[in-house]
Amino acid sequence: MSKSVIEEFPEIPIRKKDVLTTEPTASWRVERPEINLDVCNRCWLCVDYCPDGVISKTDEGPVIDYDYCKGCGVCAAECPTKAITMVLERW
Ligand code: SF4
Ligand code: SF4
Repeated sequence: MSKSVIEEFPEIPIRKKDVLTTEPTASWRVERPEINLDVCNRCWLCVDYCPDGVISKTDEGPVIDYDYCKGCGVCAAECPTKAITMVLERW
């Protein structure tokens, strides 16, 4: 029997809750998202939009797991208050 299309997809790096499913992806990153908590309104859109599920809700605000953030910038693009800035990390 042939594989379904879904089964043929490569494994996508993702971290859900506290279950680590893949190797850290920090080495992929060129830019690092940094959150200004003074500007953040705790809407949690960044948590919902992060394709890798590496932003956690905490009492202090969103916290990024930099071991698994690959620097795609989706969180910064979706943040309605522009609280997230992508900062060049290498090059
Ligand atoms: S999307 Fe922006 S404003 Fe909303 S929780 Fe994340 S950093 Fe804060
Ligand atoms: S840049 Fe933002 S959206 Fe992309 S993986 Fe890192 S925390 Fe998630």
